[in-house]
Amino acid sequence: MLIDTSITVAYRCSSCGSFEFFSVSMFKLLHSEYSLACRCRKSCITMKREGGNSFLIRIPCIGCDNEHTYLFTRKSILFGEPVVFNCPETGIQMCFVGRDEAVCNKIDDLEKEFDKLLDTYGYESYFRNTRVMIDTLNRIHDIALCGNIICECGDADIGLVLLSDCILLRCGRCGGSTRIPAAKTSDLKKTLGMSHVLISRDAFRYREGLLTGQSGNKLGK
Ligand SMILES: [Zn+2]
Ligand SMILES: [Zn+2]
Ligand SMILES: [Zn+2]
Repeated sequence: MLIDTSITVAYRCSSCGSFEFFSVSMFKLLHSEYSLACRCRKSCITMKREGGNSFLIRIPCIGCDNEHTYLFTRKSILFGEPVVFNCPETGIQMCFVGRDEAVCNKIDDLEKEFDKLLDTYGYESYFRNTRVMIDTLNRIHDIALCGNIICECGDADIGLVLLSDCILLRCGRCGGSTRIPAAKTSDLKKTLGMSHVLISRDAFRYREGLLTGQSGNKLGK
C-alpha cells in the first residue's frame, strides 16, 4: 500500500500578502528542517521536528509583524480538517497546513467570499488591491460586531461604502465619516492592529480631499 505523506502548506506572505503554496514531505520533515520562502523572496516560514511526532512551525505574521511559533502533531495534519494558524493578536488566518485537498477547500472558501464581493461590486479591477480590501472589510466587520465602531455623536447607525482604495464609514445621524485606507498591505497591517474606530463629528477630516472645503493644515503642520 502506498501511503502519501505529503502535506500542503498555504502561507499568506507577511511581505507581499499573497498565498504561497508548498508541498512538504512529512517523511523528510522527520529528518530535516524546511525553510520555505515566498516567491517574492521577502519572507519565509520554517518547519522542523520537535521531538516525537511533534513539529514546530515558525511563521512571520502579516497581521502584527511578529513571528509566531506553533506546535502541531503529525496526526492532526494527516487526518481531517487542515490546521489553521491564526495570529493571536489580530485573528487573521495566515497559514493552513494539511492534506492538499483539505487545504485547497479551505482556500476556496476564502475565495468564495472574494467572489461574493466581486459580484456585489462588479469587476476585480474596481479595487486597487482586492485581497487587501477583503481582509480590511473582514476586520471592520469584526470590530463592528464587538460594537467598537463609534461616532462622537453617539449614534450607532454606521453606514459603510467601499471605494477603490478605502472603506468609508459614515454616521447616519451627524454625517461624520472616517476613511480606512485599503490599498496596500501596509494599510491592512494598520487596520489589523486597530481595535476601535472612532468616527469624528467633523466631516472635513479627510486628508486626501474626498470633500471640498477641507483644510488640510488645520493642525498647523
Ligand atoms: Zn511574498
Ligand atoms: Zn501576529
Ligand atoms: Zn455621528
